[in-house]
Formats: sequence, C-alpha cells, structure tokens
Amino acid sequence: MNWIIIGLLAVVFLFETAVALLNRKHSLKPIPDRVKDVYDEERYQKWLTYSLEMQRSSLFQRGLQLLIMIFFLSGTFAQLEQIVASWTSNPILQSLYFLGIVQTSMLLFSIPLKVYRTFSIEERYGFNRTTLQTFIKDLFMSYLLTIMLGGLIVASINALYLKFSGNLWLFIALTWTTIAVIMLLSVAFLGKVLLRLFNKFTPLSEGTLRTRIDNLASSLGFSVKAILVMDASRRSTKSNAAFTGIGKTKEIILFDTLLDKMSEDEIMAVLGHELGHAVHKDTWRLLAQQSAIAALYALGIGLVLQNPSLFTVFGLSGVHFGFSMILFSILFEPVSLLLGVPLNMVSRTSEYRADRFSAKHTDPSWMISALKVLSRENLVNLNPHPLAVLLYYSHPPMNDRIQALQ
Ligand SMILES: [Zn+2]
Repeated sequence: MNWIIIGLLAVVFLFETAVALLNRKHSLKPIPDRVKDVYDEERYQKWLTYSLEMQRSSLFQRGLQLLIMIFFLSGTFAQLEQIVASWTSNPILQSLYFLGIVQTSMLLFSIPLKVYRTFSIEERYGFNRTTLQTFIKDLFMSYLLTIMLGGLIVASINALYLKFSGNLWLFIALTWTTIAVIMLLSVAFLGKVLLRLFNKFTPLSEGTLRTRIDNLASSLGFSVKAILVMDASRRSTKSNAAFTGIGKTKEIILFDTLLDKMSEDEIMAVLGHELGHAVHKDTWRLLAQQSAIAALYALGIGLVLQNPSLFTVFGLSGVHFGFSMILFSILFEPVSLLLGVPLNMVSRTSEYRADRFSAKHTDPSWMISALKVLSRENLVNLNPHPLAVLLYYSHPPMNDRIQALQ
C-alpha cells in the first residue's frame, strides 16, 4: 500500500516532466506568422534560453521535493509523530506542530533555488528588480502568512473532526462549509489585504487616461471607486492589470510596468477585457467552481480519515490528523491534474469572451497590440504544446487569441 502511494507521486512527477519536455520541444518550432512581430530574433533567442533555464530549475525543484517527500514517507513521519506527541497531548497542537515542521523543512530546501532563480536567472535576463532586502522580507511575510492561514484552516478542520468523527457526512458537510467560507473571504477581502502588505499603491494622476477609464466604466454601468497604480516594478518587469471588488463598484489596479510599456489605447483595451470579465460575472463562476472543489476536498479528507490502514502502512500508530492532510494532498494531485482540464477549458472560453467584449467596446486592433506587448514583456511561449495547453493553460495561447480577434 505505501509503495502504491509513493508510486503515485512518482508517476505524476514523471508525467508532468514528460509534458514539460514535449512543451519545450514544441517551443523550438518556427513562430506562427500572426505573432512573428512579437519578438525580434535576438529577443526570441533570449527567451528560449531563459525559458530553458527556468524549466530546468523548476524540474530540479520538483524532483527535490519528491525526494524529500519520499524520505518523509519512509519512516520519518512515524518518528515525527512520536516526537510531537512527547511535546504535547493536545491533538490540535500535535497536528499543527507536525505540519509546521514538514512545511518549514520543505520551505528551507526551496530557498537556495529561489535565490538562484531570482538573483541569477531573472537577473541575467533583466527581469529582476528585487533587492535582497525586499526578497527576504517577502519570503518571511509569505512564510508567516502560510503558517497563520494554514494553521487556522488545519486547527478548524481538526476541531470539527474531534467533535464529529462519529458522523462522517456531518463532518464532511461542516468541513466543506469551513473551506468554502475561507475561500470566499480570501477572494472578497484577503486578496486586497495581501496585495497591500506586499506593495505600495498610489492613485492614478489626473489626465486623459483617467478620464477615458472613468468614461468607459460608466458607459458600461460600473462606477470606479479608485484607480490605483501598484509599484510592481519594485520586484519584476512583468506587467498586468486587475479589477477588484464584487458588484458594480470596482477598484482598478494598474501595474506601473503596464503604464510604462503600453500606449493609452492599449491600456484601455486591457481594461475593456477586465470589464468583460466583470460583465460576464466570471468572478462568480470562479467562486462556484471553487466551492465545488472545496466539496471534493472535504469528501477526500473525510474518506482518508476513515481508513486507519492508510496511516499504519507508513508506520504511524493510527489515524493522525496532521498526516491525513499530507496523504490527502498526495492522493489529490492526480485528481486536480485531471480536474484542471475542464476547468481550464471553461476559463479559456471566458478569456475569449472577455477579449471579444473589449474589442467591441474599445477597438480590436488595440487589444491585439496590447496582447503583443504583454507577450513581449512577459516573454510568453508563442508555441505551447497542445497537451500543455489542455492541462495547464487558463488563458489561450497568444496566437489563438489574436486569431480570434482578427
Ligand atoms: Zn482575462
């Protein structure tokens, strides 16, 4: 049994590595005509070597994570159970210490590679703008957040389990509610709060762009509460824009890198696209999707906790809540890979729809040239392998998006 689970981890890893290699090979094909003018030859070569280096480092990282997990699964989790049990008899604290130690050691192993990617690869290709100080601060803050948020979720579900372990379906229903509420809260408020922890926001100064954005939004029935420029350039040269807020009152966030690289027309097209998402209620669809996934999570956790043999084969003394979270995440990995296929397909359809909306309310040629600027600045793969698109792409490849707009 334990070898089946370890085998499952290895199969998922090998499959994803194979897809990554196929995708790599595909990216060497000639650039489609429609996007030929996106990179000049020199920039294209630069992108190819950059993506190869990033791919190697991410494969290396995933391989390393796999080895650490196998190490933990071959007896170390059982030892950890004993050690943690000698610290406290409180079952919730036991789960928190257990998962905290696993999470922290995974993170410690990933730091050297993160440093290498940011300060060697991204630096050499001119993407990196992070200073060591910002990097350390980001790392520390995101660690603290993971520990706090993750801890809160684990502690709540563990408390439910202690109270309702006799009634599987009630436990699953309550777990589902808890996960769904936390997801809802994070979409509604937390995203905003988190962004503000990591970045500075300044209102967009008065001028034609401001007026045009206000006019476009109000002509579509939205009121714009604020247009804020985010100092994304402090970390990276990559650009983006976002619409936040639920309902008719929106806050618009523009990356300062977007303002640097795009003309006013192109920025209007990007905002038209984001307004398209708002009009088509794509945020609500996403929320509905996430609550369905939350139900699967709850069901999966409930089923794992019903099977003591899943714990004893790894040397644990019996059902252990902390370890159930790890087991669940391993067993869920292939499920989420498969689930990604229909979910990404729906997402790509909504991207086409938002592009069409923007083209209708601004100008198709603005959107096309905005997409080209985005691909150039973010150095995207112009020739992704169809299998990679099917599995992972929440947005259609650039060539297809431009074709749809023409
Ligand atoms: Zn979009």
